[in-house]
Amino acid sequence: MQRRILTPLLELLIPGNKLNRLPSSLNPGQAHLPPHIFDALMTSPLTHSAEPINVALVDTRNIQSQDLSLFLYRSASQIAQNVGRNGRVLFLSTEDPLESSIVEGLVRSLSKELGAKGCTVNLGLTATPSSPSSQLQDFFLSNKSAYVNGQVVKQQPTTLVKPESDICVVTGGARGIGLEIARKMKEGPMYSKIYVVDHPSSDFSAASGLGFETIALDITTPDASSKIMTAIDAPIGGLIHSAGITADKTMKRMSLKSWRDCLDVNLHSIVKVDGTFQNEGFFDKGCKIVGIASTSGVAGNVGQCNYAASKSGLIGWSEKFNGLNENISYNTVAPGFIQTKMTDKLPPIVTFMATKIMTPLKAKGQCEDVAEVCSMLVEGDFRGERVRVCGGMLIGK
Ligand code: NAD
Repeated sequence: MQRRILTPLLELLIPGNKLNRLPSSLNPGQAHLPPHIFDALMTSPLTHSAEPINVALVDTRNIQSQDLSLFLYRSASQIAQNVGRNGRVLFLSTEDPLESSIVEGLVRSLSKELGAKGCTVNLGLTATPSSPSSQLQDFFLSNKSAYVNGQVVKQQPTTLVKPESDICVVTGGARGIGLEIARKMKEGPMYSKIYVVDHPSSDFSAASGLGFETIALDITTPDASSKIMTAIDAPIGGLIHSAGITADKTMKRMSLKSWRDCLDVNLHSIVKVDGTFQNEGFFDKGCKIVGIASTSGVAGNVGQCNYAASKSGLIGWSEKFNGLNENISYNTVAPGFIQTKMTDKLPPIVTFMATKIMTPLKAKGQCEDVAEVCSMLVEGDFRGERVRVCGGMLIGK
């Protein structure tokens, strides 16, 4: 009894502690548990399981419309009562606007209810009931999605073109999220050459130590695109825009310089680089682009009008770019509170509010959480997705 009261209290007192990522019966090194599959719950009685449910797949795609509501109640109720610590739950739906919206509302709410147990609940969409969902299952039913909670992601019905070029460029890759993404891209099957672009004032030793080529460059300078093209001199198969800054002030106190700096680094430089690369044929056919946006760009945030405008603009730009280039897959990732030098400088009270009060998972995310989403989007059949990596943070969609 004392432990039941003390543990949540202690969790509240430790700002942004690290999330325990493993479902309760998984050991480090074990990758997967077979999912508990909910597909015939209309008539069987609701029961308490003897064993906790660690991994659950709720496939609603073949459920008749008139049965959907009862099926959702029965499966969600079973999960809520029996899910173990750090459980992974994935609902699947087709894109039917009515049915998928019902499931979405349930998923977004359940993800918030179960977050305190370290559980994640997400929704995967497919075009038809028989369209492939294996990439969604691989990601959302494993530890790779430890900090992705309450999200809706669609796997395309057909295999997207893959680039032949094995070159990937990561901006802002000297440290933090960018460095972890560069590492993940190198580990994956698609890229063997990684170019890290970062500001000349950065310390490139970690990136060089991992065997990446480095390009010291301020991404906002007018000739940034041509310098990158000259340094690489071959079409690229991947581009991750992770360079970014904050310059927080409420709008009343914000200088034009803070506004401009933020928009220049986080948005205008990206629009320029993408446009130049496209015009110059520097993107290989099937090239994968990921823009690192932010939950602030999705939901807005006090003191971040400039940052939110830039990140929201980036999400819009990715949509526009996809519309103009059918052979390129542009996705965005919107991190919430991730432990890096960018967030280390925030006052403890902001960290406490963001993680303990605003985030159902009650913890900071790690750079690897963002990198895992990038690798799912780049290696799988995803196009035009915007995935938050925020532990199910309460603000925005
Ligand atoms: P970070 O400050 O550790 O890394 C950002 C990198 O971008 C640095 O290496 C920096 O030198 C580089 N950079 C900045 N301006 C540049 C320029 N003009 N030219 C070239 N490189 C430049 O930050 P991070 O937390 O790793 O952030 C990575 C990305 O994720 C950013 O776009 C950031 O906005 C976004 N993000 C981070 C969080 C978080 O909680 N950390 C949340 C949401 C979004």
